[in-house]
Amino acid sequence: MFENLSERLGGVFDRLTKQGALTDADVATALREVRVALLEADVSLPVARDFVAAVQERATGQAVTKSVTPGQQVVKIVHDELVRVLTGDDEPEALKIDNPPSAVLMVGLQGSGKTTTTAKLAKRLKDKNGKRILMASLDTNRPAAMEQLQILGTQIGVDTLPIVKGETAVQIARRAKQQATLGGYDVYMLDTAGRLHIDEVLMGEVQAVRDIAQPRETLLVVDGLTGQDAVNVATEFDGKVGITGVVLTRMDGDGRGGAALSMRAVTGKPIRFVGLGEKLDALETFEAGRVAGRILGMGDIVALVEKAQETLEAEQAERMMKRFQKGLFNMNDLKGQLDQMLKMGGMQGVMGMMPGMGKMAKAAEAAGFDDKTIRRQIALINSMTKKERANPDLMQASRKKRVAAGAGLEVSELNRLLKMHRQMADAMKKLGKMGKGGMLKNAMR
Ligand code: GDP
Ligand code: MG
Repeated sequence: MFENLSERLGGVFDRLTKQGALTDADVATALREVRVALLEADVSLPVARDFVAAVQERATGQAVTKSVTPGQQVVKIVHDELVRVLTGDDEPEALKIDNPPSAVLMVGLQGSGKTTTTAKLAKRLKDKNGKRILMASLDTNRPAAMEQLQILGTQIGVDTLPIVKGETAVQIARRAKQQATLGGYDVYMLDTAGRLHIDEVLMGEVQAVRDIAQPRETLLVVDGLTGQDAVNVATEFDGKVGITGVVLTRMDGDGRGGAALSMRAVTGKPIRFVGLGEKLDALETFEAGRVAGRILGMGDIVALVEKAQETLEAEQAERMMKRFQKGLFNMNDLKGQLDQMLKMGGMQGVMGMMPGMGKMAKAAEAAGFDDKTIRRQIALINSMTKKERANPDLMQASRKKRVAAGAGLEVSELNRLLKMHRQMADAMKKLGKMGKGGMLKNAMR
């Protein structure tokens, strides 16, 4: 149904067959494809737009790994960025249900899978966490909705609040809380009524229930097959009720999971679980990598690129060592070192491993030589011509102006970079002469 994004990008780049760093034009072409693919995967337009901008920043100027195509490499960058957005900055924590009786409020549109998910989650908390659970249906709207939950409860061996006809949702919530307290339950789950669309009555009802139960977890259940609409739903529910997490259902279908990306980007709330079928054990914790792969519709490209990068890094290290032994150290070498530093956790990480360099690393950090500085320096080097990189002595006033402007930085910053390069080149020369490179060789290991 969908054309595979990795194939599509591969096609774009096969036509370009560029070597070396990814150019702006390469990236722009690829990103048009990425954007279309995201929209086809039901990612909402503003989210897709922001996402593409973030990838562009990451991809521009990246060196292309030898044994993969630029298209594959862009796919990898896109994949990593997807994972980053899907995971957010924080580690996923456990549900906050350690204060018995803890309320878990389930909200969402009608048919999104709330009742099924309530039962799935209850089963999971019972089986995996040994919790005593009480489930209550607050769905006074749909005929037989309460019986549906009751039947599911019987199937999974979880208690449900006895049905009393004629009660309002608020009355049921109150009774559930009472029953949970009296009955010594760890958790009570409130399965609210949905509507086909967001409406004020629904929101008012959910708010009233929330005020009674004061849940520490309010999970929004969203159909993973819905795209654009999911964003509005999430925004509304988060604004009016306040959600703590999202459950995406129907991730077993042929939807591409774009809703996940939209959800995370718009609400900033973690995706806790995904529903993978109608069966009551078809609920899994959310894994960003899997969903990212699904959105891109790609196979093993990410693994392939990672492998290629490892190999390349080993080759690069070997080549660099040989150059240093000869006392060669130009801007390309410096850039390699800076890239490596970023990867290995900054200045301390790298220098700390070289004998005698620990002190220098501390001094450098104290002087404000942090990741941001490193990134700016890399931008400066990227802005130099091939010739200038190979021979930094070429850098006279007019060239300096051009290079600094190209990186959007001041000439003073470029001067600092040149000075640092000189000092490092001198140090390398000395080290190289010292035990014919032996010491350096060991230090680089
Ligand atoms: P509610 O109206 O939000 O309570 O939705 P229900 O829980 O009643 O679910 C509506 C339909 O979706 C039912 O037929 C469920 O079996 C089905 N459903 C729920 N979750 C999933 C899922 O993860 N995968 C699939 N394939 N079907 C699901
Ligand atoms: Mg229901």
